[in-house]
Amino acid sequence: MIELNKNLKDFNTFGISVYADRFAQFSSIEELQSILNQRNGSDLLILGGGSNLLLTKDFKGLVIKNDIKKFEIKEETTDSVIVESGAGENWHSFVLKCIKKGYGGIENLSLIPGSVGASPMQNIGASPARSSWGRAAAPATAGRPTRPRPPRPRRRTPSPSRP
Ligand SMILES: Cc1cc2nc3c(=O)[nH]c(=O)nc-3n(C[C@H](O)[C@H](O)[C@H](O)COP(=O)(O)OP(=O)(O)OC[C@H]3O[C@@H](n4cnc5c(N)ncnc54)[C@H](O)[C@@H]3O)c2cc1C
Repeated sequence: MIELNKNLKDFNTFGISVYADRFAQFSSIEELQSILNQRNGSDLLILGGGSNLLLTKDFKGLVIKNDIKKFEIKEETTDSVIVESGAGENWHSFVLKCIKKGYGGIENLSLIPGSVGASPMQNIGASPARSSWGRAAAPATAGRPTRPRPPRPRRRTPSPSRP
């Protein structure tokens, strides 16, 4: 359902009170398609957790908030796993679920605010991990928790030769 003149105060972590001409939340691809069919060429803003947005004025267009939830193991071998996540899942909860299952590789990315869907768009990272190490993800899915990379050997500067 599309709401008119919606206050976005509760949808950005700064709590800034600006209004969207039109606003809709969706929790399935079908709902998203139905909303997009009513876009009528207006500007579009996709909202995740609203933690990396500074809204400075009313938005003259359609704001859509992704609430698609999913956590599904698609493929698991002895040394890799592919997990499919809904873009509307909270990123930190997603990391915790992976850790709970014993999957290594994205634990460094815990506690980063926001949604799974925004993570590949924003290429979130926390040394030494980057979300883009996972499969390049479409907005509705998240990537593959990867194994931690071994630290790169430190380059030694040659010691000055003695006279
Ligand atoms: C306190 C704090 C600590 C942080 N620490 C880190 C850190 O350590 N490392 C790091 O990398 N980042 C960090 N960030 C940045 C932030 O967590 C990321 O940018 C995060 O990905 C934002 O997610 P969000 O869902 O809140 O995105 P939003 O703020 O809702 O949106 C951000 C952008 O992504 C787009 N977007 C959102 N969801 C989708 C989607 N499903 N499909 C397509 N586009 C989408 C939006 O249109 C917008 O352009 C930090 C932020 C805060 C506030």
